[in-house]
Amino acid sequence: MTEYNVERIREDFPILKSKMNGHLLAYLDNAATSQRPNQVIDSVTSFYREYNANVHRGIYSISERATEAYEESKLKVSKFINSESIKEIIYTRNTTESINLVALGKGSECIGKDDHILITMMEHHSNIVPWQLLAKRTKGILDYVGLDTNGSGLDMENVKEMLEKEPKIVSISHVSNILGTINDVKEISKLAHKHGALVVVDGAQSVPHIKIDVKEIKCDFLAFSGHKMLAPSGIGVLYGREEILEEMEPVIGGGDMIRTVGMHDATWNDLPWKFEAGTPNIEGGIGMGAAIDYLGRLGMENIEAYERKLTEHAIAKMKNIPGLRIYGITDGANIGRIGVVSFTIEGIHPHDLASILDNDGIAIRAGHNCAMPLVRQILNNNAVARMSFYIYNTIEEVDRAVESLERAVAIFKRQGG
Ligand code: PLP
Repeated sequence: MTEYNVERIREDFPILKSKMNGHLLAYLDNAATSQRPNQVIDSVTSFYREYNANVHRGIYSISERATEAYEESKLKVSKFINSESIKEIIYTRNTTESINLVALGKGSECIGKDDHILITMMEHHSNIVPWQLLAKRTKGILDYVGLDTNGSGLDMENVKEMLEKEPKIVSISHVSNILGTINDVKEISKLAHKHGALVVVDGAQSVPHIKIDVKEIKCDFLAFSGHKMLAPSGIGVLYGREEILEEMEPVIGGGDMIRTVGMHDATWNDLPWKFEAGTPNIEGGIGMGAAIDYLGRLGMENIEAYERKLTEHAIAKMKNIPGLRIYGITDGANIGRIGVVSFTIEGIHPHDLASILDNDGIAIRAGHNCAMPLVRQILNNNAVARMSFYIYNTIEEVDRAVESLERAVAIFKRQGG
């Protein structure tokens, strides 16, 4: 695609024509979940209308067609993140399940009493709680890397210090869902591997927005969710390096993940099916394939450049609102961040901001946004408001949101709030 034609893209998203509270919907909560284009919706409905059958079982045509479409989507995922083969692509429900799968599988195998697990202060709960549970179960120790003095990135000196504790697992978000910061996961992966750690990357906020190459990052695991990248809900991915997955024991047992079952023992299916017990989310997988086709046609570099323009525009305008504080990188916004912009306005609760914007037809998020340690301890807040952009958002929508925020400031000023 040579020119990024956002109006053309918007045509593919039926929900963007709908109204919220009497205004055309401006959907700016893409870090929570994305909207879905007709191509993805149609891929799911055509599965149900034309070839609904279970996969990996039937010897009849529609089952073969379903299996083919489902498995073909894994090949698309594999190419999308440049993994070696589909053996490295496990379908899960979401990022959360993917990280839990690593913690329950590899984590249980390599963490024992007093072994260290290293995460960071900017993690989403789904990259905190599975490690807390693992540490409790095994009497391991969970350590955190702190933020730099600006509070917008990781303290790389602290990364090096914490690695001296020789953690067995290092699990970090590629992009923070609060700050939008892109962490240097390639460098952290290199440093962590020197200390013999396994590296898990939470790609929930990066894979939908920037080009990802697992061979370049050299991570051992990468977790991400389909619903944040145009695909249906309930389909997620765990990438794992083949050698590691080969050694790792399955976590969930049942149909499809076995080769043979005796009365007291069983042997396992090949990768990736060893980790996919039971009937999978077939329509989700098929929809994931359609979503990747869609993103591929636009080109991830084009998406990144377009979203950067929106983000720079938003930050420049928001900076003019009195009492507004943005969390994360605000100068040279094009470096090291994506279009997730968290903020507060002095004297106005983020929930009030979200309600006022909702009245104007604009959807934003407010709360701790599933990152309580960061929002409470580092940002010293109980809640933040957050705008987050995706491929179909426009400069006009950003301007509408900024005008709405300005109105909120005026209302609260009038009320002496
Ligand atoms: N990690 C990050 C950075 C996220 O932003 C999210 C969701 O917002 C998750 C993990 C969890 O994703 P899911 O709810 O799809 O499992």
